[in-house]
Amino acid sequence: MVESHKNDVLVGVLALQGDFKEHVNMLVHSGVYATEVRTYTELESVDGLVIPGGESTTMARLLIAYDLMDLLRLKISAGFPIWGTCAGAILLADSAPDLDRPTIGGIPMTIKRNAFGTQVDSFETDLRFLDLEGGDYHAVFIRAPLITDIAPEVKVSAHLKNGEIVAVVKDNLMATCFHPELTNDTRLHRKFVDLVTNYKINRSNEV
Ligand code: GLN
Repeated sequence: MVESHKNDVLVGVLALQGDFKEHVNMLVHSGVYATEVRTYTELESVDGLVIPGGESTTMARLLIAYDLMDLLRLKISAGFPIWGTCAGAILLADSAPDLDRPTIGGIPMTIKRNAFGTQVDSFETDLRFLDLEGGDYHAVFIRAPLITDIAPEVKVSAHLKNGEIVAVVKDNLMATCFHPELTNDTRLHRKFVDLVTNYKINRSNEV
């Protein structure tokens, strides 16, 4: 059912800064159309959005300069699916105390930027994801944030071996602290595509 709709789905990748090209490739390999999003009209035309890793301060500034901030908040309140990865996860957090400007918000959680310090600021590890078939997911962390607090309605989908939270879901919003576009494993991209596909089907049933 969902499979047959996949080709109608268009997933956008916010392309103001950061790792957007790699995400577009991963989405295409996951069986959907994918496109870079920079303008209000482009954002209006997609069924879901990936916010890539990069620099959250720069992206937060550019979101306002490109007039996308209010539209994103409006869309989130209407259930629009967004997956924030690394800097993108910071932007989806309702609270990011060490970001010097407002986030988009949407996920009631607190996130700490550059949580792994400057010495050991990049590492790779295998994560056991809830609801992800096929075994552990190899995750690449680059100057990564850490989710330090979540509201009860936020579901943890992966944590480090010491219990620290690095991936969550809340309704149609996903946040992961690492870079899922830097491996060949498309399982998380396909999971997001399923979310977007269901959102699109439900919306067209409502009309
Ligand atoms: N350290 C970056 C920030 O705070 C995030 C790093 C990344 O996206 N790889 O925005």
